Amino acid sequence: MRIVLVGPPGAGKGTQAAFLAKNLSIPHISTGDLFRANISQGTELGKQAKAFMDAGDLVPDEVTIGMAKDRMEQPDAVNGFLLDGFPRNVSQAEALDVMLQAEGMKLDAVLDLEVEEDEVVKRIAGRRICRNDSSHVFHVTYAPAKTAGVCDTCGGELYQRGDDSEATVRNRLEVYHTQTEPIIDYYKAQGLLVTIPALGEVADVTKRAMDALKK
Ligand code: ADP
Repeated sequence: MRIVLVGPPGAGKGTQAAFLAKNLSIPHISTGDLFRANISQGTELGKQAKAFMDAGDLVPDEVTIGMAKDRMEQPDAVNGFLLDGFPRNVSQAEALDVMLQAEGMKLDAVLDLEVEEDEVVKRIAGRRICRNDSSHVFHVTYAPAKTAGVCDTCGGELYQRGDDSEATVRNRLEVYHTQTEPIIDYYKAQGLLVTIPALGEVADVTKRAMDALKK
């Protein structure tokens, strides 16, 4: 299956993507994670992305589309993938369509995780992520680690992403409304959009998404 996850920052895309990818046996491809890995390894691509990410702005398409394409062409992605954070504007969505068409492939579904803005701000402000594996996500109130600052899964150090500060979150939401939301209509027009209410328990949201994909 080839699936795209959309939704505002803090909707739980990363958390849901990890579960869904495991259930469906397809790789979870997160452009945000790819950028963060490049930044921590000090690559040229990481250097290009950093200032945009710190400000909560989109990294330019020239950088992002090439990186996403390289990742989708890896051998583990031949039978499908779950995209998280890509595409993030209409020109990226168009580039993805062109890429898939060239291979005679198409998307199976686009899942839109729907959450109100107040909730998103609360989720992001308390979010803590493991340095070893960004799919190990905690929240100081909603999903606290057993020992503060230590990952329950692997013992790694938990940290707050630099772009999860309140000022940057406001800009990320603004960028989401102006640049990313238009892809919802783009995919609706293609008959691919499925809206998933993303409030409530993590496992319930995963179940809603899995049920929607079975249809
Ligand atoms: P979230 O969904 O919580 O905002 P991500 O980890 O997906 O977090 O993205 C973090 C940042 O990485 C974005 O604010 C942006 O700067 C950059 N980024 C990720 N994916 C893309 C993309 N497809 N196009 C441009 N920038 C991106």
